[in-house]
Amino acid sequence: MALLFEIPVPSVAIKNRSERFPVSRIYCVGRNYAAHAREMGSNPERESPFFFSKPANAVAENGIVMPYPSRTSDLHHEVELVVALAGPALANKGENLSLAEAQAAVFGYAVGIDFTRRDLQAEAKDKARPWDTAKGFDNSAPMSALTPVAEAGDIGSAEITLKVNGVQCQHGAISDLIWSIPELVAELSTFYRLQPGDLIFTGTPAGVAAVVAGDTLVGEIDNLETLSISIGARS
Ligand code: MN
Repeated sequence: MALLFEIPVPSVAIKNRSERFPVSRIYCVGRNYAAHAREMGSNPERESPFFFSKPANAVAENGIVMPYPSRTSDLHHEVELVVALAGPALANKGENLSLAEAQAAVFGYAVGIDFTRRDLQAEAKDKARPWDTAKGFDNSAPMSALTPVAEAGDIGSAEITLKVNGVQCQHGAISDLIWSIPELVAELSTFYRLQPGDLIFTGTPAGVAAVVAGDTLVGEIDNLETLSISIGARS
């Protein structure tokens, strides 16, 4: 079958491999750390985490100088553990996964930032509109190279931090996730037939804040490749 024209397949690097991981879809989890839910004005005891998504071509490479995006003056960082799905566990079934099947579907992990136009998100919340323009813009999902599960150590006991210009802004523990990794993969598989190439941004710990042109951001999770990016001038 011939295509009228070719478009690039979005992809992310894999640590110590020449092949890249093709990206199919990017799902994100909202309010998956209680302290962040509270800082955003909600009660984690009463409201469960939830999903939203970004287009696959929102991924951006480690080391990028990210142009400050259009139509916002309140660009926020949200450092997150990214889970990449692939492998035989998804070959025949991507729906209604058990917790064991969900864990087996995880290819690897990375450090990502779920960039957010917080002013547009606040307006969308206020008017009960979708979040797409607040969340799904170009370069809104930079991430480090994927580390395969076998090389990632015990991710459940890892800590996650974000430093802006050398100052720690966000800190949390993966063990603080309200929905654990297998729980959120299993839950997501009740909405969608998950497929190899899907990514999940698993939610951010407390400490989200605005960035400006010239800022340098360094995101770290134990045993994973560090993410280092900077914010450039408005595009
Ligand atoms: Mn987020």
